[in-house]
Amino acid sequence: MSDRYCVFGNPVGHSKSPAIHAAFAAQCRQDIRYEAILVPRDGFAESVRDFAAAGGRGANVTLPFKEEAYGLTTRLSARAELAGAVNTMVFHHADVFGDNTDGAGLLFDLGVNLSCPIAGKRVLLLGAGGAARGVVGPLLDARPANLVIANRAAARAEDLAQRFAGATSPVGCGYTDLPGMCFDVVINATSASLGGELPPLPSGIFAPGSLAYDMMYGREATPFLAFAAQQGAARLADGLGMLVEQAAEAFLVWRGIRPATAPVLAMLRVALER
Ligand code: NDP
Repeated sequence: MSDRYCVFGNPVGHSKSPAIHAAFAAQCRQDIRYEAILVPRDGFAESVRDFAAAGGRGANVTLPFKEEAYGLTTRLSARAELAGAVNTMVFHHADVFGDNTDGAGLLFDLGVNLSCPIAGKRVLLLGAGGAARGVVGPLLDARPANLVIANRAAARAEDLAQRFAGATSPVGCGYTDLPGMCFDVVINATSASLGGELPPLPSGIFAPGSLAYDMMYGREATPFLAFAAQQGAARLADGLGMLVEQAAEAFLVWRGIRPATAPVLAMLRVALER
């Protein structure tokens, strides 16, 4: 019987993870079955328990459950511990291992696919939810000139920044603190684009030559990317590359092999634009 994996989320109907992992499995000759499971907002723990009890080997976790997944684990990787959020789970008897591959996926997409290394750049991260938590540590490891985290609920951004206080301490704030600041890389890690909304951004935050990156992806430019283009950002990127790269990292955790991502990313891009 095939080894079973899944992605838990709400909503999850838009998820491309089943197609990505099917492509990885075919490429790496791994016998796995991967499905998307829509979880009721108050039913995450039960869904995880049922899936593991039925023989599930591992899972991805997407919004809004990454912080809840963190609390359900018996063991954590160092990067998940630091993030306080889990996007990859491994089930083995009573052991529930939690990892977080979002940051590695984002940094691979920025540094390799988009040739935009973070070292020395002024970086603004929008959002303080599960996705943002996963990428702060890897962004800081890449040695930006500075990192500002802005969130609608400013206290969440301040708490997140506090969690990573160190040599290059990030600054947490609200959107009303942003006027007058300017960045080389602006990353939208909010779920605003999912609802067709734009975070309340002021004018003037995009430096000449800057990159605007939305973790969301779709056929049309998101409201954030449309705003960035209008504000003069030099480069626009959506989160399709991050999606494929974080999935490759999860596949590595589960199966011990990191698949080649370029052909899978190209396949998804064609399907998205069809
Ligand atoms: P969460 O639900 O954990 O967090 C949502 C975040 O978005 C919070 O910071 C929230 O702010 C903010 N937010 C929601 N609506 C608005 C709005 N209208 N204006 C401003 N801020 C808003 O979600 P995740 O962190 O898990 O996911 C965030 C996004 O990232 C999703 O779109 C998801 O699809 C995407 N993602 C993409 C990945 C990829 O591989 N491409 C990987 C992971 C995530 P507040 O705290 O104030 O409520």
